Amino acid sequence: MNAAVPPITHDAMRAKIARIETIPLAVPFTTPFRIASGGPRPVSEIMLVRMELDNGMQGIGETQAWRRQGSTETLHSLHAAINQLLAPCCVGRSPFELPAIAAVMDEALYKSYYAKAPLLDAILDLQGKLLGVPVHALLGGRTRATVGACAVLPLNKDLRGTLEAADRFWACGFRSFTVKVGVYPELEVDVVRAVRERFAQAVLRVDANASLDFDSALALLRRLEAYRIDAAEQMVPLWDIEGMAELARRVDIPMMADESISCDHDLIDMIRRRAATVFQTKVGKSGGIWHSRRLWTIAQAAGMRIYPGNHPCTSIATASVVQLAASWGGPLLDGPHAVGITGALAYDVVRRPLVVRDGAVVVPEGPGLGVELDEDAVRSMRVEI
Ligand SMILES: [Mg+2]
Repeated sequence: MNAAVPPITHDAMRAKIARIETIPLAVPFTTPFRIASGGPRPVSEIMLVRMELDNGMQGIGETQAWRRQGSTETLHSLHAAINQLLAPCCVGRSPFELPAIAAVMDEALYKSYYAKAPLLDAILDLQGKLLGVPVHALLGGRTRATVGACAVLPLNKDLRGTLEAADRFWACGFRSFTVKVGVYPELEVDVVRAVRERFAQAVLRVDANASLDFDSALALLRRLEAYRIDAAEQMVPLWDIEGMAELARRVDIPMMADESISCDHDLIDMIRRRAATVFQTKVGKSGGIWHSRRLWTIAQAAGMRIYPGNHPCTSIATASVVQLAASWGGPLLDGPHAVGITGALAYDVVRRPLVVRDGAVVVPEGPGLGVELDEDAVRSMRVEI
């Protein structure tokens, strides 16, 4: 017979979640940010969650209202989902009940990972703070000291400006580039060709953000085949899995899924249909560290390559990806998880932003996520909803 499970005596286990606050922000882009769908955007709409324990300790998490394919949430809908349905699943419970809380959240609100992500990440932040260890230690321990990131080159009609941005990234040690495509095919082929000619050793990827029809995607990819593209990201709409599979068969460039995959069922479907061999998580889209890790495990078992990403976000959501990546035992691509803090966003919301060195984010060693809110920055970018 098994020995009885001993009672929990550790003080950290006794603290309960007492209060949850949503903090909607409009964080300005350095220059208006443009991907293939929608116009240039002046701000990234970001929702922070502050979770307070009955002992006064606070945890934080971040999500975004991206409002493009794969993201239907607004700041208002995130506020409502979190405050009305998801926060009540957390309050009164210990942060060390995370799996149970995640299960109750799934019963309270189907899918909605963008709303669940900041709560689940704040719970892990609190677990780490209560035990005095970084989140990567909670996930088993550190496998790497830095997490490689790629440079993102947004859609831009200014070829010279784009190449100057690429030069700056290269000088800072970035060796992987994602070129946004999907609107100006002639110009985009010129950009890819120029980046390839400039940096023969660079890893080069393109991302159409789900904007092209099948024929346009096929035509563009055939023109890009000559430039050693490591992966073509979400060339067709998120629903067109067959189209993605057909592209994978017809061009000599590996396919990456981003908008098409938010949950485990999406990923399993993609694997079955062999529509992509690379896939991207984002902590918002994928439901925080907790759910992202499950996706990585499934993808690894299927022999897929993993591309750790994020929408343009602050050091908080970047820290979530970096903590997860720091604990991951397998290979990872240099992904766009740090796009917000490596040039896209003009401001951060933490006291000591994550350090980016030689194209990689240094894994923070402080407790929890390893970042701390800057209350003045929060006040200056907070919006009324
Ligand atoms: Mg993408």
